[in-house]
Amino acid sequence: MSTRQSTSDLMAALRPSAAGLPESRIVTVFNHGRNKPGLIPLWAGEGDLPTPPFIAEAASKALLGGETFYTYQRGLPELRQAIADYHTRHYKRAFSPETFFVTGGGMQAIQLAFQMTVGTGDEVLVPTPSWPNFRGAIEVQGGIAKSVPMSLERDGWRLDLDTLFAAAGPRTRAIVINSPANPSGWAASQDDLAAILAFTRKHGLWIVADEIYGQFYFGGSGMAPSLQHLIEPDDRVLFAQTFSKNWAMTGWRIGWLQAPAALGQVIENLVQYNTSGVAPFMQRGAIAALNDGDAFLKSQVDRARQGLEIVTKALKPLNSVRYVAPAGAFYGFFGIDGMSDSLSAALRIVDEANVGLAPGVAFGDGSEPYFRVCFLRSPEQLQEAMARLNRWIGQQQR
Ligand code: PMP
Repeated sequence: MSTRQSTSDLMAALRPSAAGLPESRIVTVFNHGRNKPGLIPLWAGEGDLPTPPFIAEAASKALLGGETFYTYQRGLPELRQAIADYHTRHYKRAFSPETFFVTGGGMQAIQLAFQMTVGTGDEVLVPTPSWPNFRGAIEVQGGIAKSVPMSLERDGWRLDLDTLFAAAGPRTRAIVINSPANPSGWAASQDDLAAILAFTRKHGLWIVADEIYGQFYFGGSGMAPSLQHLIEPDDRVLFAQTFSKNWAMTGWRIGWLQAPAALGQVIENLVQYNTSGVAPFMQRGAIAALNDGDAFLKSQVDRARQGLEIVTKALKPLNSVRYVAPAGAFYGFFGIDGMSDSLSAALRIVDEANVGLAPGVAFGDGSEPYFRVCFLRSPEQLQEAMARLNRWIGQQQR
């Protein structure tokens, strides 16, 4: 037998649900523009500020101090307590540290949520446009992500609850509720969330709740409406959370899963067999973020508000652009008349306008004619990027 195999032989020997995963289209654009001089990158879901020093120092101190050994699978008790305190402070109700589990980023919290609830052939309802990693994590499990298309109305994106509920069938196991949403900026109302929770209680479904942008809310004062105000201890709700956005820690890969305390041993086992935990020195940084980071968090939200204003001022007056200011998160999601292939247009925008956008096609059904622009960035850079984009859009309309 030949020791050399063709790529297709190797691919055919894999689990189809691994071999068939799509490449991220955001990365396609990123790779195209990565080294372009002067490019303003607004394609990724992150701000431009590095992690603040008080967080980095707490982590380096622990690293140099020898916190380099295996640690608790569920997370350091001090960190779980700090997460509970953060919730109690911001959602104004009591939370137990026993319901929080430290993970390798929000992404691993999502992965664990689906590992617990979704098997081969099981369906999960995913309102679209949606961050592509929900679909990917479901498909890795052999599950099926069933899109529930939202619509863009005059006042913003809308999820029709009757459409959502009608999409549930005998194989449905879970519903993803990402509010405020990446990329659309849609945010559920408190009534929407109550109706969704009632539906899932009635039908024994799980909610995978992604409220990572809950602090970034422009639809009213304070934080976005939240399932946190509604849940009871045995509700089938799994929250994915992250340090990435609130405290500028995207590269750290640390977050948490919130789940009924009764599932603690299952989650501990899953962490054991996936990653065996998160580096303890990083958890020390995370504790500093939670306990001393409310002021930094507020400055991030203020920065996003400023960014929202700049993007709205630039895009709203344009006749050839469909844009409604988002209720939350830190993205503008807009269409340009006459452009139906968002990937090739985003590549051209890199080449011709020197601005990096994420192509709508990355975000699932109904997202193709749109572009996502991240506005958690310095006002000066954003102004310049929007000026370049305006010029480019003007040139297309001639
Ligand atoms: N959920 C949503 C909706 C996101 O946009 C992101 C990051 N883009 C995440 C979860 C995961 O963040 P991380 O893995 O960096 O914690």
